[in-house]
Amino acid sequence: MPHTLLLAEPRGFCAGVVRAIDVLNAVLDREPPPVYAFHEIVHNRHVVESFRARGAVFVDALAEVPNGARIVFSAHGVSPAVVAEARARKLRIIDATCPLVTKVHLETRKAARDGFDILLVGHHGHDEVTGTLGEAPDRTTIVDTPADLDTLTRGPGGGERPVFVVTQTTLSVEDTAGVIDAIRARYPAAEVRNDICYATTNRQLAVRTIAQRADLVLVVGSANSSNSVRLREVAASTGTPAYRVDGIADIDPAWYDGVGTVGLTAGASVPDELLEPIIADLRARGVTRIEPVVVATETVTFQPPDGLD
Ligand code: SF4
Repeated sequence: MPHTLLLAEPRGFCAGVVRAIDVLNAVLDREPPPVYAFHEIVHNRHVVESFRARGAVFVDALAEVPNGARIVFSAHGVSPAVVAEARARKLRIIDATCPLVTKVHLETRKAARDGFDILLVGHHGHDEVTGTLGEAPDRTTIVDTPADLDTLTRGPGGGERPVFVVTQTTLSVEDTAGVIDAIRARYPAAEVRNDICYATTNRQLAVRTIAQRADLVLVVGSANSSNSVRLREVAASTGTPAYRVDGIADIDPAWYDGVGTVGLTAGASVPDELLEPIIADLRARGVTRIEPVVVATETVTFQPPDGLD
């Protein structure tokens, strides 16, 4: 049975998630419900459910929001078309987009203005990718894997314009390096911005480090959380069995059979309190040694957005 627990540090909340949660909390403190949020404020089921209980309403289309109502944009960002629609509907916007996502939007917008074709490395359908794509939809092609380059039929495939590369912020550091190598092989003059954020990078390094010493890794995070899903993949890539769970209820105790050392981490949208019952349960199962494994110290904070007095 388990005797040792390795706790990845850093893990859990990043600065962008803290800011988005603070924004929605502040709005709910000041205004009567319902308060609308475009998409889930962060990709975590527990966080979203607790906000719902306080009167937040998460929508995937602005048509669901009454004219003139308050709308909070999530940490993942929105396309300019969504902003324009919100303004036209006189919605009162507070934009909780992570500043590091906004940076990718600005890079994309400028590259389109400067005459580039843009390759956006990221996952089709993810909120962040959809928002960034909206900055220059007729100039941008999403590249999820190197194989996507083989099917390019327009823009960069035509080779008429210079190529600019941006990335989603929450990708696998290693997989993205492979995609960027493939892009550079095909477009040697491509200008590349690797936008994987500090929080994603640090959490992946931390989980890889604990996975190399553990017999089992648990990643707390929701299925729609890109960075949580990547953390499980990174852990599993070391050869150590790894599971993503939303909380303790998802853990099958049989996973602990024959396991001496457990590694534990959490995605960037996960409150640390979700780890507490898991740690208490492991203590009850015989864990006597809990070791934080620190690979980086984070000091990043972001200012609140405009409109939040
Ligand atoms: Fe911002 Fe990175 Fe956190 Fe996403 S994961 S909200 S980009 S700090």
